[in-house]
Amino acid sequence: MSDATAKKEERRKFQAIRGTRDLLPPETALWNHVEQTAHEVFSTFGYGEIRLPIFESTELFARAVGGETDIVSKEMYTFPDLFDLAEIIGRMRDVTIELGIDPGNEAKWQEKGHGVAKKVLEESTVTLRPEATASVCRAYIEHNMQQLPQPVKLYYMGPMFRRERPQKGRYRQFYQIGAEILGGTDAPGIDAEVIEMLMTFFDKVGLQGATLYINSIGHNADNCRRGYVAQLKAALEKVKDKLGPDSQRRIDTNPLRVLDSKIESEQAIIAMLPHIADHLCDECKTHYAAVKRQLELRGVLYQENWRLVRGLDYYMRTTFEITAPGLGSQNAVCGGGRYDGLVELLGGPPTKGIGFAIGEDRLILSLQESGKGKAQQGRDVYIAWMGERAYAAAVHAAKDLRKAGFSVELPPVEQKFGKALGQADKLGAKYALILGDNEVSEGLWTLKTLSTGEQAKFPEPDLLEFLSQQKNVSS
Ligand code: AMP
Repeated sequence: MSDATAKKEERRKFQAIRGTRDLLPPETALWNHVEQTAHEVFSTFGYGEIRLPIFESTELFARAVGGETDIVSKEMYTFPDLFDLAEIIGRMRDVTIELGIDPGNEAKWQEKGHGVAKKVLEESTVTLRPEATASVCRAYIEHNMQQLPQPVKLYYMGPMFRRERPQKGRYRQFYQIGAEILGGTDAPGIDAEVIEMLMTFFDKVGLQGATLYINSIGHNADNCRRGYVAQLKAALEKVKDKLGPDSQRRIDTNPLRVLDSKIESEQAIIAMLPHIADHLCDECKTHYAAVKRQLELRGVLYQENWRLVRGLDYYMRTTFEITAPGLGSQNAVCGGGRYDGLVELLGGPPTKGIGFAIGEDRLILSLQESGKGKAQQGRDVYIAWMGERAYAAAVHAAKDLRKAGFSVELPPVEQKFGKALGQADKLGAKYALILGDNEVSEGLWTLKTLSTGEQAKFPEPDLLEFLSQQKNVSS
């Protein structure tokens, strides 16, 4: 490589990987506001925060999310997490013993070695979490939370990873805020309250035009969803030729998912398919009616959407989705549902469960589109100082003001007052505190209100009081 090429290589500009992005100030203030509101609202409903690992065993997601879903079959970031050769050898030895193979028996080893290596690799494969419900259920089981007073109400927030095709509102690293209620009963009041909490949260962050859709998908039995799916499949077979390749495939793998189709030409066909509401068993029908009544009791507006389904066996009864304006085709800001079989599927005791996940990126986009998300930048006070004595006073003033909760910019080097005031303007400061040697000797400090240009002199102790009063007036 020539020197020039090497230099060029060295100076290569790194960019965030496709589908990931940096969240920058001032926008991050809005993210913090949204997250803070979630902490506040969820805790008023008795939820506690759970912080989960970013990666887990691949098998956990394969089992919980389902091997046939897009997430597991093609979107997960998965890699073997073996540290070094010594670790690989150590693990192989353990597995060899576990399988009852004598490591000294060369012939046996020849025969079984491949299987051992495969098992070691599979067991040590980890995945960046594509969602968090599986992890919450794993934690519930691992920490014996069934022994706590039931139900256990947990919420989480943080990044999730899915290798999807990036577009507006769809990223490969995105953020979710979610909650799960585990254990206790499946009383309709639980379903209604979790939805009430969500709508309270959306209201509090100022999301406008959110629409709540609900449905019941019954339970996995012949006299309920299984019976419906059989009828749906039969109906789909009759119109198979008119469907696209994805839907055609799904008739066999997961007919419910055909209802998710957004393909324009399929819509009229789907509209003619049988509805699950006509096939619910009596208990699921009663449960659904009660959830709707309970939502009305709580003043929560909803629309029913019979096409809202979840294609996994353990999902049952209540499903819901919330859409928001300003997001184009990716307009779902939240999805959720009841999953009474999941904890058991992961090796725990039979446990009722319901939860939701909010797409935080999309929520923020919608807030920004509606003009709600005007993040405030700027400082309360910019300290323009000149002279060594003034600098000492400025350092102390900054300390006192910050202690009182003001955001303060203290320039590290001396600058002419004109330049300093220009800088204060650029930073969107509300006030400039002007400190020169005169001010320090007189003990009178000059405060300039940058929006009006007004200037006033204050004895040092009065300054803080004045600013605090102004803050109270404006907030
Ligand atoms: P899900 O876990 O698939 O039920 O998704 C719950 C919510 O997370 C959705 O309603 C979206 O708001 C959000 N979401 C899912 N996938 C993505 C993605 N790739 N990028 C941004 N948000 C997403």
